Amino acid sequence: MRVSISSSLIKRFLNGDHAACARVITLIENNHRTADELISQIYSRTGKAHRIGITGPPGAGKSTLVQKLATLYRSENKKIAIIAVDPTSPFTGGAILGDRIRMSDLFTDSEVFIRSMASRGSVGGLALQTKSVCDVLDAFGKDVIFIETVGVGQVELDVAQLAHTTMVVLVPESGDSIQTMKAGLMEIADIFIINKSDRDGADRLGVSIEAMLDLKTDGLAWRPQVINTSAVQERGVEEVCGAIRYHWNFLNESGAIEDHLKENIQSEIIRFVDQIISEKIWHNDKSEKMMAKFIQEVMKGNITPKVAAKEIVKRANLLT
Ligand code: GDP
Repeated sequence: MRVSISSSLIKRFLNGDHAACARVITLIENNHRTADELISQIYSRTGKAHRIGITGPPGAGKSTLVQKLATLYRSENKKIAIIAVDPTSPFTGGAILGDRIRMSDLFTDSEVFIRSMASRGSVGGLALQTKSVCDVLDAFGKDVIFIETVGVGQVELDVAQLAHTTMVVLVPESGDSIQTMKAGLMEIADIFIINKSDRDGADRLGVSIEAMLDLKTDGLAWRPQVINTSAVQERGVEEVCGAIRYHWNFLNESGAIEDHLKENIQSEIIRFVDQIISEKIWHNDKSEKMMAKFIQEVMKGNITPKVAAKEIVKRANLLT
């Protein structure tokens, strides 16, 4: 079914009106009835922006670094967007990250679009939503989209998958915990940043990351770069920019960008299938009663949870 959407909204969006872009994002985030049609109308314009993920422990200096990088890109006249994703704060709406960035001079620059996103109670859909927001910003004509995530959990890993280039920001003190750090976090890094290198221990951490890379990157086409920065002192920021550009060139020249795109489309389709199926099963008036009944049956020992699940899927009549 086609849903009519405001053609003036699309027109303003295509003319580069930031308010229209913000409106489109809000409609998509709220899963407005026009959301699917909006995405369809602009989707063919996506695929140009460089999506850069920044992740790492809270307080490592991610926001500070993003500000400095964005300022540098702006001096090259690049159009920038920053998406701050905070899966841990459904209530603050990701305000902590976004506000910190917003307070900076960047907020007065209309070519820098800043958006905070939070899980709104369900973390499952966050990666999908972030992807859609990226698509909108890409279609809008942003050259570089930073996707900043707080923390180091599964959602961050999912979000990192959206990025062409993923930077993991650590601090000298991370050295002691590097062995115990989530393996996934170490594996997603295209660039390691040791921020706060104005403090002791940066070199030691660098050596242990390089040693780990010696083991893990044997035979791989890309060996992550390790860069020391001090975001507050603006040291190393240009090197980071250089490494980002180098990785972007590598992706394009090696053809890895094509694989990245395929993988992304595949995981997006799978996530949408999961979402559509689970909506079909759980978002109707009968689902609560049905669940209560199956819980009772399992508790009585009549069936197992898996049998209950199979029965629920069967009853949902998914093929209609
Ligand atoms: P995030 O939580 O990773 O986004 O971290 P922030 O960017 O908010 O930084 C956390 C704190 O570390 C702030 O007080 C920053 O001023 C400080 N900070 C950021 N970068 C550096 C750095 O390179 N050196 C030092 N000493 N402090 C820094």
